Amino acid sequence: MKALIFEGPGRKTLKDRNIPVIDSATDAIVRMTKTTICGTDLHILKGDVPSCTPGRILGHEGVGVIEQVGAGVTQFKKGDSVLISCISSCGKCEYCRRGMYSHCTTGGWILGNTIDGTQAEYVRIPHADTSLYPIPDGADEDALVMLSDILPTGFECGVLNGKVQPGGSVAIVGAGPVGLAALLTAQFYSPAELIVIDLDENRLQAAKRFGATNTIRATGEEAKQRVFELTENKGVDTVIEAVGIAPTFELCQEIVAAGGVIANVGVHGFKADLHLEKLWSHNIAITTRLVDTVSTPMLLKTVRSGKIDPKQLITHRFKLDDILDAYDTFSKAADTRALKVIIEAV
Ligand code: NAD
Ligand code: ZN
Repeated sequence: MKALIFEGPGRKTLKDRNIPVIDSATDAIVRMTKTTICGTDLHILKGDVPSCTPGRILGHEGVGVIEQVGAGVTQFKKGDSVLISCISSCGKCEYCRRGMYSHCTTGGWILGNTIDGTQAEYVRIPHADTSLYPIPDGADEDALVMLSDILPTGFECGVLNGKVQPGGSVAIVGAGPVGLAALLTAQFYSPAELIVIDLDENRLQAAKRFGATNTIRATGEEAKQRVFELTENKGVDTVIEAVGIAPTFELCQEIVAAGGVIANVGVHGFKADLHLEKLWSHNIAITTRLVDTVSTPMLLKTVRSGKIDPKQLITHRFKLDDILDAYDTFSKAADTRALKVIIEAV
C-alpha cells in the first residue's frame, strides 16, 4: 500500500509499505477513505515531537471502512464505516476511567506518532471498540474528518479549559484549523467578544466568516495594544493559544485579564518564558491539555443537527498519490489560502 513516511526532520516520502495486520485481539484494520494533515504533522516535520521517529507513517485523522477486526472486537464488523479518533483508548485503565483518554496507559496519541498512522491506504487501530465511532447513514464524511482531532481539540483544550462564559471575552491566538475550531465551538457559550489574532489575512477573513467579533493582524506589542483598546484596557477573560511557539504563549500572558484563563492548545517544541513577576497577583490560571476526544459524541450531534458546520474549514482536495503536494499546500497557507485539506485514499 502507499503511505506517507516521516524520514526525519524536514523529510517525508510517499512509499510502498506492507498492509498492516491484526496484532492484538482488540485491533481493527481500517481501509482509509479520507484523511487530512494537521498542524501537529508540521510540528513533527520541524522536529518538535521527538517521540515520533523516522520511518513512521504520519496522520491521526480520517474516516474509513473496516477491513478486518480482531477476535475481541464486538462493536464493529467488516464493511462498517468509521470515524477514527486521533486518540486511542482502552476504556479500562485508570486514566480512561477518569475520561482522560489522552493518557490511556496503552493508547493516547499514538497514531502517526509512536505507531503508524492514517496517511496511508490502510491503518491498524488498537482498542478499536473504544477508539472508533460508527458513521451514521447519510452523514457527510468530509465534515466528519474534522471531528477526528481539530474540533474536539479546539473545544476541549481551548473552550472548555478556557472556561468560556456567556458575556465573557475571548481571544484566540492562531487562526489555523484548530484556532478556527475553537472559534466555532466557543459560540456554544455565547461570549460577548471573540477576538482572533493571526498574521495571515486570509485566515482572519475566514475567522470573520466563522463568527469572530474582531480580528487583529499583528502579533507581539501591537496585538496587545489592539486587544486592550477592544477591552477597556482589561484584557480578555479567556486566551486560547493555538499556534505552539514561545512568542504567542508570551502574548497570551500579556492579554489575559485579571481572573482570566490562558488555555494552551499549541504543541510546543521549545521552552517559553512565564512572567510570574507580572502574573503572580492576577488570579489567573494556565491550562494545558492533550485532546481527550471525550466530546466527540456530543460534537457529532452538533454537526449532524447543523449547529456547527465544520465543512467550511475544507479548502483543498488531493488524492493520496499527491499527498506531497497536499503538504506543500497546507504548509504554505499564507500563499495557498489553505485551511484543511482532504486527502482521498481511494
Ligand atoms: P496551523 O499551523 O495550521 O495554524 C497555526 C496558525 O498560527 C497559522 O494560521 C499561523 O499564521 C499562525 N501564526 C504563526 N505565527 C504566529 C504569530 N507569531 N502570531 C499569531 N499567529 C501566528 O496549525 P493548526 O492545525 O491550527 O494547529 C494549531 C496548534 O494546535 C498546533 O501547534 C498544533 O500542533 C496544535 N494541536 C494541539 C493539539 C492538542 O491536543 N493539544 C491537538 C491538535 C493540534
Ligand atoms: Zn492533530
